[in-house]
Amino acid sequence: MSQFDLPVAGARLCIDLDAVCDNWRLLRARVGGANCAAVVKADAYGLGAERVAPALQAAGCRHFFVAHLGEGLRLREVLGGGAQIFVLHGVHPGAEAECAGGHLTPVLNSLAQVAAWQGTAARAGRALPAVLQVDTGMARLGMEADEWALLAATPGRLAGINVRFMMSHLVSAEDPADPTSGRQLARFQTLRERMPGLGASLANSSGIFLGPDYHFDLVRPGAALYGLAPVRGQANPMRPVIRLQGQVLQIRSIAAGTPVGYSHTWVATRESRIATVAVGYADGYLRSLGNRGRVSFEGQQLPVVGTVSMDTITVDATEVPRERLGEGSLIDLADPENDADAIADRASTIGYEILTGLGRRYARCYLGGGEGPRGTEAIGKRAALLVR
Ligand SMILES: *Cc1c(COP(=O)(O)O)cnc(C)c1O
Repeated sequence: MSQFDLPVAGARLCIDLDAVCDNWRLLRARVGGANCAAVVKADAYGLGAERVAPALQAAGCRHFFVAHLGEGLRLREVLGGGAQIFVLHGVHPGAEAECAGGHLTPVLNSLAQVAAWQGTAARAGRALPAVLQVDTGMARLGMEADEWALLAATPGRLAGINVRFMMSHLVSAEDPADPTSGRQLARFQTLRERMPGLGASLANSSGIFLGPDYHFDLVRPGAALYGLAPVRGQANPMRPVIRLQGQVLQIRSIAAGTPVGYSHTWVATRESRIATVAVGYADGYLRSLGNRGRVSFEGQQLPVVGTVSMDTITVDATEVPRERLGEGSLIDLADPENDADAIADRASTIGYEILTGLGRRYARCYLGGGEGPRGTEAIGKRAALLVR
């Protein structure tokens, strides 16, 4: 038994790779002829790029995005030569040879970066691939319209660079009513006309749902692959991917009037049974969920009471019959009924932050993706098969 197996670990995170692949297929079906990439930066949003990316590759995905060069180099080892790997942060001065050696495609965000990459290609004696990013409204990364015009007017600047496509990133695609997306689309199309024939990519997960005008030649979903809702205020069409369960360490019976936890932020108003569960903010169970979080046991919802500690939370389990819940019982902290988006709402953040914050102390189990039970059963049932 390793440090990461239950019952040695405090909690278990199950990740359904078949659901990730189904989500990718659903998005691919929505974009018709466009390529559907997978964004696997930040360790596939906390779910484990070394498991997620090969599963997606086996499902037919050929284009992968990471943020950092280091993530790209590691992913190249995992995926082998067949995959196209794009590095969103591009290539920093001094790291060009590493990037070229890993056969990674940097996203270039300025004319200076284009020039540096051209120099690398010249030294390598071969054309090197790149993506060109234009800014359409984020003011974060990418070339301005005047830089783009200069590039279009002096094609020699791109000699030796094999430009795969141009891209930009949407500001608020998850809100279909926000006019910003339409403005960005118009800017993107205008910039695109300056370099006719170049492939293009604009949409993240949510952008895919803004309609075919946003699809171009390649879409770049991340969040929706991992089960997050792509469209705010609408039913989530994605399959749930994670189930997180924490072990009960102790059940305490307390009298009415007894305060619980650091700073005594909660006081029992009745005789209560408090279950202490082995997950805390060090595991990504955010401190802002103190007195706001919800967990469940055998489908019954229970409130998190008191503050979230580094390694534990306290749950009001008074409503659960005494004989059903004890030390070692597993409490559902995240499941299809209480998913990362729902947790995020209560913590005043977004599902992205919940996923990428998932801790490293969990016992992790991966379902599907060519290993373990397959099929369409609910992740809950399949995870239950793995309960020790
Ligand atoms: C992270 C990222 C994506 C993926 O966005 P999701 O909202 O997770 O689908 C796509 N493009 C860029 C440039 C990104 O930084």
